[in-house]
Amino acid sequence: MISLQTPLAELSSMKKNFLPKLETLGLVSVRDLLFHFPVRYEDFSTIKPLAEVVENEKTTVEGTLSAIVEKKTWKRSMRIFEAELSDDSGRIRLVWFNQKLVTDQLKSGVRIRVSGKVESDRDGLVFRSPFFEHASRRPTHTARLVPIYPETYGLTSKFLRWQIEFLFGKKIAVPDPVPETILARLHLPPTPRALRMMHFPASLTEVEVAKKRLAFDAMFLSQLKSLELKSLWKKEQAVSFPDIPEFLETFEKTLPFALTGAQQNAARDILADLRKDVPMNRLINGDVGSGKTAVAALSARRVAEDGFQTALLAPTEVLAFQHFTTFRNFFSHTPFQIALLTRSYHFLDAEKSTKETLKNAIRAGLPSIIIGTHALLQDDVRFEKLALVIVDEQHRFGVAERGKLQEKTKVAADGLPSAIPHFLTLTATPIPRTLALSFLGNLDLSVLDEVPKNRPPVVTKIAATREARETVFKFSRQELKRGRQVFVILPLVETSSTLSEMKTAKTKHEKLSTKIFPEFHVGLLHGKMKSSDKESVLRKFKEGEINVLVSTSVVEVGIDIPNATVMIIENAERFGLSQLHQFRGRVGRGTESSYCFLLPGKNGDHDRLNALVESGNGFFLAEKDLELRGPGSFFGLRQSGIPDIAMSHLGNARLIAIAKKEAESILERDPELVEFPLLKAALQELSDNVHLE
Ligand code: ADP
Ligand code: MG
Repeated sequence: MISLQTPLAELSSMKKNFLPKLETLGLVSVRDLLFHFPVRYEDFSTIKPLAEVVENEKTTVEGTLSAIVEKKTWKRSMRIFEAELSDDSGRIRLVWFNQKLVTDQLKSGVRIRVSGKVESDRDGLVFRSPFFEHASRRPTHTARLVPIYPETYGLTSKFLRWQIEFLFGKKIAVPDPVPETILARLHLPPTPRALRMMHFPASLTEVEVAKKRLAFDAMFLSQLKSLELKSLWKKEQAVSFPDIPEFLETFEKTLPFALTGAQQNAARDILADLRKDVPMNRLINGDVGSGKTAVAALSARRVAEDGFQTALLAPTEVLAFQHFTTFRNFFSHTPFQIALLTRSYHFLDAEKSTKETLKNAIRAGLPSIIIGTHALLQDDVRFEKLALVIVDEQHRFGVAERGKLQEKTKVAADGLPSAIPHFLTLTATPIPRTLALSFLGNLDLSVLDEVPKNRPPVVTKIAATREARETVFKFSRQELKRGRQVFVILPLVETSSTLSEMKTAKTKHEKLSTKIFPEFHVGLLHGKMKSSDKESVLRKFKEGEINVLVSTSVVEVGIDIPNATVMIIENAERFGLSQLHQFRGRVGRGTESSYCFLLPGKNGDHDRLNALVESGNGFFLAEKDLELRGPGSFFGLRQSGIPDIAMSHLGNARLIAIAKKEAESILERDPELVEFPLLKAALQELSDNVHLE
């Protein structure tokens, strides 16, 4: 008996030498193969008499083969096999190149079906390297919508089709986790049918239906997962922080600015969460520059008022240091102490410390706020009374990592034996609402979609020509002469090796400092630098000693330099809109007019970039990214284990809403899913393989 778990190695249809190739594609079990989907389909469903075929048409014909002959060619390495196919109405030539296999499979007098594109040469109409199979066979490679698989490592579509078709003949039991009543209500096919529709559809409509079914599975399960996590989280205890009259107003008075409406709303959401004795689990989904830090500070302040501690985790040491400085300003009128603990920094307020001393101080409850990288929770740091954990994500924290962090958070609840800390996450860039709902459904959301009013929009321009580039640099020199500062971002994506990254960055830096900005001090920041060196470069930039900062994208640029007014991004088309928006957000933080110049690479397609010129709204741009590049480009979703098919539907708000409703109603009836063991198992498997929260 073949089941989903049967290893491919045990199939009688399988030749051993294919196994390593299949494994490279991650295909080990029958299940893997059945869920390995075509990327597209060739429509060869019409069968025509030979007399009717016309040039350039994709079609199927059926007839009898004449002898196959090998043709001599002037190129020694090339072997050409030619045959003739005839039916009652006419004949046509068939040509294959270098496919010795063909002669083994096809003999004169055999009836075959052939699918391909009709071409022509001096001798008339011809099929070049068409798909074919014996006419007596059920149509698999011809005379239908023929699935085309991503071909890799020498595994042809033909081979995969053949294997998958073999499996469909075996009547394998494919358990369906989604209850029949739900499928019926939504007019979705059961899983086995959906699989067949994916591989061997009768029409393209069937493909769409099947995709919808698979997407629904992913969403429904993820909604169930979210609800489950949410209810587990709410079962925990947390310290409650009752209302302090006028707290928000009093806090606002210590700020050099008034809070935006969105900041106030988020602050109220948080204070309401803190009031409860169940832990908060909230995401501040905020636009770049919307002032998430102030909201974080307010939360920490509330917790400090009652003598409890807050840990603030930043993705890098550089950003941890910046938060430390910012928080020191926010808390300068208060008695509360702030610590910075990372690999290279150990500070308690203004005082430089050692790791040991600082750890002792934290354990004794001296600092109210402890800032560090996320290593803070992984290290052996112990707190006296940790009641709030804030995570500033930037790009680095994938969705998966946050899950781990939250687990750590529970463990780190020192001094509060029966309580866990409240949890607050800040996004680096806005997340489209639909995505947040599909994958972060266990979190409560506060949206910061408003940037402070007094801030002029960043003037954004695309400089695609040589002359335009010249103008950009000329303009930048003027700004520099006025005492402003300039960022230059290099498009070294994370896949490029750090060594070549360093080399490119150095070359570029050299050019900028000797040729383009010779009269200014040009600093360099790249991923290979020691973090103390990075810090010193950033400090010099912040203090104005460095005028132009050349930085690779791997270096976090969540930094706040109000005097920087120009952002130049090289090869901008290589980035997503959200990330570009994030870079742009580094300027325009002061009250001066600021500029962002997008310099596309030589052959870079830069149409997409117009969206940035037209909009300064991070949520709008994130939606655009979702539309253009798919959800994979968001916070490590690509590595999350969600199937691509489902990914392509993640922006489908209606489907998400339906999945959510169905998930709620099933859990309401049967919270433990006793009646739905298959669903329960699927959910468990999701927890093991897919990392969402
Ligand atoms: P982000 O949300 O991108 O992390 P920050 O918290 O770093 O943004 O804030 C961006 C800048 O805006 C900082 O210089 C901060 O002091 C300032 N800022 C924050 N809130 C306001 C406000 N309500 N009015 C004016 N400036 C603000
Ligand atoms: Mg920030």
